[in-house]
Amino acid sequence: MSAVSLYARATEGHESRVAHAIAVLQSAASEHAARIVQATSLGAEDMVITDLIARHHLPIAIATLETGKLHAQTLALIPRIEARYGLAVEVYRPVTESVVTFVKKNGERAMYDSIELRKACCAMRKLEPLARMLSGAGAWIAGLRREQSDTRALVPFSEPDERGRIKFNPLADWSWADVWHYIATHDVPYNPLHDEFMPSIGCEPCTRAIAVGEPFRAGRWWWEDENARECGLHVKDAPVSMIGA
Ligand code: SF4
Repeated sequence: MSAVSLYARATEGHESRVAHAIAVLQSAASEHAARIVQATSLGAEDMVITDLIARHHLPIAIATLETGKLHAQTLALIPRIEARYGLAVEVYRPVTESVVTFVKKNGERAMYDSIELRKACCAMRKLEPLARMLSGAGAWIAGLRREQSDTRALVPFSEPDERGRIKFNPLADWSWADVWHYIATHDVPYNPLHDEFMPSIGCEPCTRAIAVGEPFRAGRWWWEDENARECGLHVKDAPVSMIGA
């Protein structure tokens, strides 16, 4: 069964939530004209945001992190975005030497050995390239929604990050049904892994399908305590400089 048929539902207020998300993006683009970036994970929410950016011709760069551990289905979305929208996707990768040294010392499966090693892997493969992506940007766009987890329940539409840049979350008040109703209505390309009960998709070793009734992010770093389950990209008290590369 496809994710569209499972989740897409027109609910009251959907159109006004779409209009509000467009207004957030428009004002973000005009306030931060020098450089503003959508840091896309290529997940369903981010595909909606890319569609909104393209549809409304907003001067916002589209960029993603290629960690070296993504599913082939996730990577395949990059050329699909470029073909569909005629937009270039900036791709940021970890430093090869850092990866080689880390894997030599800790092994390919280090993320399962301890939270510290898992966070070190995220710092090397995600946070350091993210810092390069956002260098020179006054603002960035993310796909966080309040409904995604308890730790995201208070996500605002915009907030300063630890470096003083503004992070915009235009879909903060959207439901999962909203996301999929938009995808269905506008025929937005999406990761086929969403059809396999993976609502939240990260790197291959750290993502699994969820069972009926499990929380939205239960398939991310499922072997860890719930409060540890963020990679640092959206944790305000874990700046890139403290986590280290
Ligand atoms: S999500 Fe997993 S594989 Fe990806 S960077 Fe973090 S620990 Fe490494």
